[in-house]
Amino acid sequence: MRGKAWTEEEQMILEETLKDMSINDVAKMLGRPYTTVFQNAQKLREEDPDRYIKNKRRKVVELTKCPDCGSSKINQVDNMCQGAKYFCVNCFREYNRYGEVVDPIK
Ligand SMILES: [Zn+2]
Repeated sequence: MRGKAWTEEEQMILEETLKDMSINDVAKMLGRPYTTVFQNAQKLREEDPDRYIKNKRRKVVELTKCPDCGSSKINQVDNMCQGAKYFCVNCFREYNRYGEVVDPIK
């Protein structure tokens, strides 16, 4: 059950999408069998878990300052569902618990 070798482009697509998409979805997009995508994904994840394993391994940060404007007027917001965790009173940006800006338009 050995298909043709992965092209550089396919490998790149996998690297780009792996952090946001499930292996199943990537496999469908590439038109590759789930198992080979899974194997390649495993390799990438072993090499660089911080980058490729979504959510689980991302570092949760404790923000005491706004990463963007540096203001210490940052409020912690309790939000049970994946929403903003921090809110900067100075620049009105919202951050999740990984210290990433949450785009309110999304
Ligand atoms: Zn700010």
